[in-house]
Amino acid sequence: MPPLRSNDTLKTILREYFQSFFADPAPKVAWCSSVGPSEILTAFGYKVFFPENHGALLGVSRQANKFMPVAHARGYSPDICSYLTSDIGAFLAGETPLTRAYGIPSIPPPDLIVYNTNQCHEVQDWFSFYARHFDVPCLGISSPSAVGPMGEPHVGAVAAQLETLIGDIEAVNHTRLDRDRLREVVGLSARCSELWGRFLRSAQAKPSPITFFDGCIQMAPAVMLRGEAVAVEYYELLNAEIDERVAAGVGAVEGESLRFYWDGMPVWGRLRFFSELFADHGVNVVASTYCNSWIFDLSAEAPIESMARAYTSLFINRSEAIKEDVLRKLVRDFSVDAVMYHDAKTCPHNSNCRFGMPQRMLAEHGIPFHVVHGDLNDLRCFSDEQTRTSVEAFVEQVEDNRH
Ligand code: SF4
Repeated sequence: MPPLRSNDTLKTILREYFQSFFADPAPKVAWCSSVGPSEILTAFGYKVFFPENHGALLGVSRQANKFMPVAHARGYSPDICSYLTSDIGAFLAGETPLTRAYGIPSIPPPDLIVYNTNQCHEVQDWFSFYARHFDVPCLGISSPSAVGPMGEPHVGAVAAQLETLIGDIEAVNHTRLDRDRLREVVGLSARCSELWGRFLRSAQAKPSPITFFDGCIQMAPAVMLRGEAVAVEYYELLNAEIDERVAAGVGAVEGESLRFYWDGMPVWGRLRFFSELFADHGVNVVASTYCNSWIFDLSAEAPIESMARAYTSLFINRSEAIKEDVLRKLVRDFSVDAVMYHDAKTCPHNSNCRFGMPQRMLAEHGIPFHVVHGDLNDLRCFSDEQTRTSVEAFVEQVEDNRH
């Protein structure tokens, strides 16, 4: 399958995004957790940088294991988030893959740091390291966790914190938030989310024109530029190309015969390994919890309320019962034959196979599963050979059971 033509535009957008942090005059820079309230920061006029994206870059470029020991030596445990340890380790070592990729000297120093604990509490500790180092404010939203059915109390509590956050940033900035600008940014973010969701739903076609591994690359604008027009324009271009593939019946995996779902974090340093392993066996990973996490139901008419609802109703932040419902629906909608659960050693928050979910989904809904043991960044927790052998045996088993 030839690469997507849109990739060239994606590369240009990302280069311009990273280089813009070092423009003259220098922009105000805010750091934000990846499912944090970035729209508010954009509306205040900050350029927004996402440390988790930097963590993923360290993983993809297979540099994470070089830097993690530097953070371990500072007292950051090998058992905690390996985004955190690889990112802090790289910072302490004075290196970043952004220099080689985009020619920028370092990660952009922040004027303000903002997080939301909707995904985990580790972002708070992670960002606090930098707040101490740069001596800048570190402001946060404390979200409820393991949320069952969403109710007004959940939304109201988070909306009130968003208003407090706005007041705190106004105090730091000595400027009032332009509420019209916030509505505009949230509207762009909503449109970006719609288009991102449309891209992911294209995988419902048989054969699917995309894979989970395409999604891991294509998601960058949805994470980093979601309140900006450039992300909307990019996904319109990308979706037009995907529509062509669907109309021509072109599948991303030649001879697609099985369709899998990937639950949990990617193994960033092994995207190609998995992509080739699955494709060699006619398996397409057509949907994932991870890529779906950046589809937000936002509304320009109700920016604060819709942000509170969207950022609290993330999959990672829900009860096991809600997660099972979501998963079951996705398995049905994407005609999935089996679920691969990634048990990521340093991310228990986004590993959904530790409390019997796969077994319940098999017993109650007949959904076969396999558990991949690994990690998002720490490749010491991952064995190529064991994974290859166990995945191949599982694929064979799913095929046998179909006949
Ligand atoms: S959700 Fe997992 S990968 Fe993301 S910051 Fe938290 S521990 Fe790290």
